[in-house]
Amino acid sequence: MTNTANSERLFQAALEMMPGGVNSPVRAWGAVGALPRFIARGEGARVYDVDGNSYLDCVASWGPLILGHAYPQVVAAVSRAAAGGTSFGAPTPGEVELAQVLRGAVPGLEMVRLVSSGTEACMSALRLARGATGRNLVVKFDGCYHGHADSFLVAAGSGVLTQSIPGSPGVPENIAQLTLSLPYNDLERVRRAFKDHGGEIATVIVEPVAGNMGVVPPWPGFLEGLRQICTDAGALLIFDEVITGFRVARGGAQALYGIKPDLTCLGKIVGGGLPLAAYGGRRDLMSQMAPVGPVYQAGTLSGNPVAVAAGLATLKALEGPGFYEDLEEKGAWLEKELMKAAAQVPVTLNRLGSMMTLFFTAGPVTNLEEAKKSNLKRFSKFFQGMLEEGIYLPPSQFEAFFISRAHTPEDLELTAAAARRVMSRL
Ligand SMILES: *Cc1c(COP(=O)(O)O)cnc(C)c1O
Repeated sequence: MTNTANSERLFQAALEMMPGGVNSPVRAWGAVGALPRFIARGEGARVYDVDGNSYLDCVASWGPLILGHAYPQVVAAVSRAAAGGTSFGAPTPGEVELAQVLRGAVPGLEMVRLVSSGTEACMSALRLARGATGRNLVVKFDGCYHGHADSFLVAAGSGVLTQSIPGSPGVPENIAQLTLSLPYNDLERVRRAFKDHGGEIATVIVEPVAGNMGVVPPWPGFLEGLRQICTDAGALLIFDEVITGFRVARGGAQALYGIKPDLTCLGKIVGGGLPLAAYGGRRDLMSQMAPVGPVYQAGTLSGNPVAVAAGLATLKALEGPGFYEDLEEKGAWLEKELMKAAAQVPVTLNRLGSMMTLFFTAGPVTNLEEAKKSNLKRFSKFFQGMLEEGIYLPPSQFEAFFISRAHTPEDLELTAAAARRVMSRL
């Protein structure tokens, strides 16, 4: 058995001082019946815990680290920026440069605003959608996660789903009532919602490839249908590309599927592992944000120069030819090998490029209800077995695992070999 004495000691101390011993719920590993490992450092595709164990990391800080840990150019950019002062509360040149890079890459972004977390990006986009339409209802989808703002904690994914919390106390009933949560991939239900409430719906917000109930790609026609319904009803379409932006393609899912949302939320990769996110979209809409327009949103650390430097260095490194083709090739290989390893176990593997989830159900998994048919006990055993083999997977069935540029073919072979051994014991 792996020695985890230092992690255990730290976790005991943390439990005394922080709720669940953590600063974000899924890190507590409650769903997989294990104690979290405290990470001392990361390099490339690997993380090292405080007991000196090393793991091949497939969590990637839940998505941001598409280059792996401590990517030299990112570290250099961060050091350089920090040495020049960490925050000014005034405009800096890097913000202009990053806005240019984002706009050049993501088709729907005519204007953009930088914020500090995906939660903030989604919350702000929703406020803008309500402000611009003068309507209050929001349509979201079961199992999608858009951060922890009040309006989104209705049938939410990610940690909310992992902990089996249907919503959250503290969200007033009359706020929750403004959110309609519908099954993913079900256009008929969306049409019905618009028939009943069309004039009151401000926006439809969607993860264009769902990642927070595990990976669930959109059915052909689903995103196109949402686009059409929103356009017809005068509602705004928000793509929450906090995971998919710069992950499934440089221009995100909207570039991949050729659909232009009215507003887009970005996070994770765009901050290169530092707290940075963004929202943006049509010029006429973004022009309603303060100080030009009346919709208010602000942030002391928004566009922070150190985070901007990390984002710029990261996005620059993704520019190389064949970057996404390489990730796709690695993803396809691992998918094939994991499916072979699971030949005797009922599983469904959903994958888009370098994000994938192995659901422990015969499937198919096209929405939350089907994702929830997964055998969570079996997932926990798989997770623990893989961890013992030195492969660090997300500690929840309802999350994506990510392949980074740092994963070598040898790393993937190690992962597949571990999966073969663990699966044979399930
Ligand atoms: C992670 C995530 C968020 C929230 O981002 P935070 O930076 O954790 O606040 C929002 N939407 C999606 C799709 C996400 O995956």
